Formats: sequence, structure tokens, C-alpha cells
Amino acid sequence: MDFSPSAKELSHFPFLKKAQDHIKGRFSSLDSLFNDKKGEQLIDLALERIKNAIKVKKSFAPEITGSSDDEIAGYALARIIVSCVHDKTLIDRLTRYESERAYYSLVNEEEWNQNYHQDDGEYSRLCIAIAHELGIQITKDRIPLADYVELVAPLHQDRFNLVNRQLEHGFVDIKKDERYELIRERIRVLLRRDLPHKVPTSVCEKLGPRVALIKKVYQEQMLEQFGTIEESSFPPCMQALISALTAGINLTHAGRFTLTTFLHTIGMDVNGICQLYARSPDFDLEKTMYQVEHITGRGGSGTEYTAPACAAMRTTGLCIHSDDLCERVNHPLSYYRAKKRDLKKGPMKKT
Ligand code: SF4
Repeated sequence: MDFSPSAKELSHFPFLKKAQDHIKGRFSSLDSLFNDKKGEQLIDLALERIKNAIKVKKSFAPEITGSSDDEIAGYALARIIVSCVHDKTLIDRLTRYESERAYYSLVNEEEWNQNYHQDDGEYSRLCIAIAHELGIQITKDRIPLADYVELVAPLHQDRFNLVNRQLEHGFVDIKKDERYELIRERIRVLLRRDLPHKVPTSVCEKLGPRVALIKKVYQEQMLEQFGTIEESSFPPCMQALISALTAGINLTHAGRFTLTTFLHTIGMDVNGICQLYARSPDFDLEKTMYQVEHITGRGGSGTEYTAPACAAMRTTGLCIHSDDLCERVNHPLSYYRAKKRDLKKGPMKKT
């Protein structure tokens, strides 16, 4: 299919190669961004994008606010800035936001696209073209089995499980909404795969104040989301690690890493984390400080690590005593958030 999207269409899907090609040559180099007013405006657009990605409640509008070219440049710059921040959770948030945004644009295409027309029953020309650009050979109501299996691997809803699907001649039947969901998932995976970019140190240094601002906003958002620290809401895996510490059992490197990153993300400071490790009978303050500062990004590397998801925890044998709530989450941080919410509402509901 010949796919010649308009600039406006590209601005809604700025991750497409055609979108990046569209603005190629606009900047002689990344450095040129720091020398004029236009560059400043684009960086501000990128910061806005990241701030929206950090918000708990995201909202999207059919019409973009800036020019199409600025929108595409803002997308690319946002990816450069989060690469400088080098925080895995922030990168995950931005890629999830970009995929949600594209999903919104696809589902609501009629509202913003004057070129909207249907090519394949109820699906638009643009939707089909984008799926193909992303390497998904999707048709009106089915998708090749191999594509399907790859796309649904990270999705947890039972309805995506192959045993719950209709299979025919190597194709899996899909519904209209699911088609959009699968495209969204493909976008998320592809965008995540490329990050963090290897950004020259000189560029990150020039972005320094902006990077610091994003770190501050991000930290505030995380604290707001996780609120005061409540050990009673920790997931069973983290409770088990703390119990092991208290019982004088030496945690493995993976165990220490997991517990430290978890505590750091929910807002515990380095001293608080060290105090927790002090429950261990063989506690060594200096060694613990060094390890904690390294993992939380204060030890010189600047890299902040994030607690592993449940799937990785299972692989390393750290998923212990999982309970009913565990079936609703795929990350210990989601467990913590949900449990706090449930406790606030009243007695825990059985699922
Ligand atoms: S399922 Fe996830 S949250 Fe629950 S115990 Fe295992 S790793 Fe922890």
C-alpha cells in the first residue's frame, strides 16, 4: 500500500520513520537547539510532553496545539531528555504515554483527520497503513498467529490467552477494539526498545537544568502517588525480604537490589533504607550506604534503577507467598499502590 501521510497525520504518530524523515534537516545539529529561541520553545514542548507522561490521570485532545513539525520535534526531544535522566520508570512512562496517545488518535481519528476514510470495512486507511508500518500484517478481523503471540506476550488479560481465541488457518480472530489495543502494544514495545538513546554528554550537560527540573517533578509525582510509606501495604515478596533481613539471613545481590529499588521508588530516602538494613545482625553502615547510593543513582553513575516486575521476580525466585491481590498486578509497585488504596477504602475485597 502506498502510504503518503500528511504532516498533520504524521504529527499524531511522530514515532513513524516517515515522521522523523519529515523533520530531518530542520536542525543542523542538536547543539543548534540551544542557541535560539525556537530551540527553547521545542525543548519546552518536549518537557510538557514528559510532564503529561508522568501524570497519573492522562488526558488527550484530538487536536494538537503546536505546528505539526514542532510536535514531531517535541516527541524526539522528549526521548532525548529522558535518556539524559536515565531512569527506567520514567522511560517506561514516556513510552506508555506515547502509545496511549497514538491509540487515542487512532480510535478518535474521525474527530481530527479531514482525510479520514475507510479502506477496509470499519477501519481507516491510516490505521491499516500504520499497522503495516509497524510490521503487523493485520486485516479487518484477524492477525497472523506468530504476530499475535508476540504482541500479547506482555498482556495479562485472560481474553488474550490463546486458549480463549478462535484460530483458523494460522490466523487469530480479533475484534475491532482489540485491533487498536494490539497496535498500541506494538508501539509501546518498539518505542521502549530504542531507549535510552546514547546522547552525547555535552548535550545532556546543556540540558542539565531541564533534566533537573524533570527529576524534581517526577520525584514529587512519585511521592504524591505513593504517599506516606506504609510497610503493612508492602507486597508479600518485599515483606519476605524484610523478614529475611530481620532474621539475620544474608540477602542475595538480587534480593538487596530489588528491596532497595522498591523502597527508593516509593519515596524512602537513603537514610531510611539504611535503617531498614540495620535490622540485619551483620549490618555494615559504610558498605550499605555505598550499595544503596549506587542503586539509587547518587553514587556517581547517575543511573536510578527500578524494582523488577513480577515476571522477573518469578525468574529470580524472589516472588514469594503471592496472594489474591498478586493476581491483579504485574509489578510489586502496583501491588503496593492497590493495597494502600484498598486499605483506605476498608476491608480488602476478595478477587
Ligand atoms: S506476584 Fe509480584 S507482587 Fe506478588 S509476591 Fe510475586 S513479585 Fe511480589
